[in-house]
Amino acid sequence: MTNPAARFALPPRSVFEPPSYPNVWFYVHERLVPSHEAAVTLVTGWLRDHCGLTDNFGHWKPPEGSDSQARVGGLQRWVGSADPAFHHAHDLHIRYYYIALRQTGSEWATVEGVGAPSGRYARFAGSVHYEVADEHPLHPSIDDCPYCGRTGSYAQAADLFAGAHEPLGLELLLRGTIRGDLVTRPGGGPAGGIERMQETHAVRITKIRPDKPDMNIVDLAVVLIGPRGA
Ligand SMILES: [Zn+2]
Ligand SMILES: [Zn+2]
Repeated sequence: MTNPAARFALPPRSVFEPPSYPNVWFYVHERLVPSHEAAVTLVTGWLRDHCGLTDNFGHWKPPEGSDSQARVGGLQRWVGSADPAFHHAHDLHIRYYYIALRQTGSEWATVEGVGAPSGRYARFAGSVHYEVADEHPLHPSIDDCPYCGRTGSYAQAADLFAGAHEPLGLELLLRGTIRGDLVTRPGGGPAGGIERMQETHAVRITKIRPDKPDMNIVDLAVVLIGPRGA
């Protein structure tokens, strides 16, 4: 894994004061959007329309410093436990962070030399994770679930949220898979996979080693979205 973190000049966690450093950053090329607001609308709207990510909690949900949040639910229902109390479906849940970037004048960044169109990008952040459905009495964690639990390659996760739920949520958001398996919504259609945006845009996903002291996460990715043919 290369570490071009310096090229993206990611802001410090103190800009937002979230519990976790945002594990996904969206960069939208200036040729695609007239404003930072339009960049947020482009990405969150795409995720709503193509992955089902909407704010349908129907009750107050702690924002944890975010400006809006969304989820897609009813995923990968697990009934493998002998005790039905542990049966559950999953949520892909994301919190979006953008207003503090505007307030600190760090909502635009110049990117060069990462194999994507050079220029100015409007950027904002997301904190994404995969978990036991919000409505379930045992939300957010059931340890022995083969999908969201401390199992398989995540068996050694010291902290279930940072060690499994966050990297799993990032995998689903980027690739549309959980532990390599494609995830579909109950009504059909993919539940994630922003890489499919390359059908209409130039999309480049860069994994970054979260090596700054305030980056209390395991996996971190930057999604660069540009015009096709640039
Ligand atoms: Zn959540
Ligand atoms: Zn689970």
